[in-house]
Amino acid sequence: MTIAISIKGLNKTFHGGRKALDEIHLDIAAGEMVALIGASGSGKSTLLRHMAGLMAGDGASQGLVRVHGQTVQQHGKIASDIRQTRAGIGFVFQQFNLVDRLPVIINVLAGTLHRVPLWRSLLRWFTPTERAQGVDALKRVGIAECSAQRASTLSGGQQQRAAIARAMVQGAKVILADEPIASLDPESSRKVMDILARVNREDKCTVVVSLHQVNVAMKYCPRTIGLHQGRVVYDGPSVALTPMLLRELYGADADEILSLGDHISSLQDSQHTGPHLAWPKPLAALSPMALAA
Ligand code: ADP
Ligand code: MG
Repeated sequence: MTIAISIKGLNKTFHGGRKALDEIHLDIAAGEMVALIGASGSGKSTLLRHMAGLMAGDGASQGLVRVHGQTVQQHGKIASDIRQTRAGIGFVFQQFNLVDRLPVIINVLAGTLHRVPLWRSLLRWFTPTERAQGVDALKRVGIAECSAQRASTLSGGQQQRAAIARAMVQGAKVILADEPIASLDPESSRKVMDILARVNREDKCTVVVSLHQVNVAMKYCPRTIGLHQGRVVYDGPSVALTPMLLRELYGADADEILSLGDHISSLQDSQHTGPHLAWPKPLAALSPMALAA
C-alpha cells in the first residue's frame, strides 16, 4: 500500500491558546476517497491547510506531514521545497478561487503554471498542447462550452467544476477539497461530488474532502475521519456512522452534522457514480475502532 498522506503528531494552537489541531496522526493511502466531517470550528479547514503546507503546525511538536513521501512540514516549519510538493496537490476551495475577470480556460491553465516559465505565464501564452489539455479537462467536468467566458459569468457549480478542472490540468495526484459543495444548490453539489468521485476512480487521484453533512460522506466516501474540537474522534468506514454513534461522539454538535435537510440524497441519483450506501445503516455495521475513539 502506498501512503499518499502521512501525518504524525500534528498540533496547531492559534493565538489566544485555542487548540485547533490536537495530536493528529493519520495515514491516507494512495487512491482513497476520504471524507472529513465535523461541526463548524472542528478543525477541518485547518487540517486540510496543514496537509497542503499552506499553514505550519506548532513548532514544539513533531508535526510531520508528508505527501507522497515528500515532507510538507515538520516541527512547525514548511519544507523549503514546498513548491515542488505542492505542484502535486490540488486544492479546491469552498469559494472556488478563480480569477473572475479571466476566461475560464485561462483559469484552468493556471494549473500548469508550476511547469511553464514565468514569462509565458505573465503573457498568458500557452502551447496548443497545454490548451488542448485545458479543453479536455473542461470537457471532463462538463463545461467545455464555457471555455471562453469570463469566470465571473459562471454559476457557482460551474466555477467549482472549473476549479476541479484546474487541479486536473495541474496533474495533481492528491486533491484536497475544503467544503466544495457548501455554497452550492443540490443539483450542482451532486455534480461536483460525482466529478470528485470520477477523478478518484479514473485518475487514481487521492481525494480528501471536508463536508458538513455526514450523509454526503456516506454516499461518496468509503472512509470518514471525524474531527471534534481539533481531535480525530472517528476514523473508519463511513457506513458505520449511525446517528446514535454521532451523538455519542459529538454530543449536541451532532445536530449540525446530521441535519438531514441534506442536499444530495434528496435527489434522484440515477447518474450517481460513487458507492451507493443507504442511510441510516444498522448499528451492527459499527467498527470496534469507532467505539475506541
Ligand atoms: P472548520 O473548517 O471545521 O469549520 P477551522 O479549521 O476553520 O474549522 O477552525 C478550527 C478552529 O480554529 C476554530 O476554533 C477557529 O475559530 C480557529 N481558527 C481557524 N483559523 C484561525 C485563525 N487564522 N486564527 C485564529 N483562530 C483560527
Ligand atoms: Mg472550514
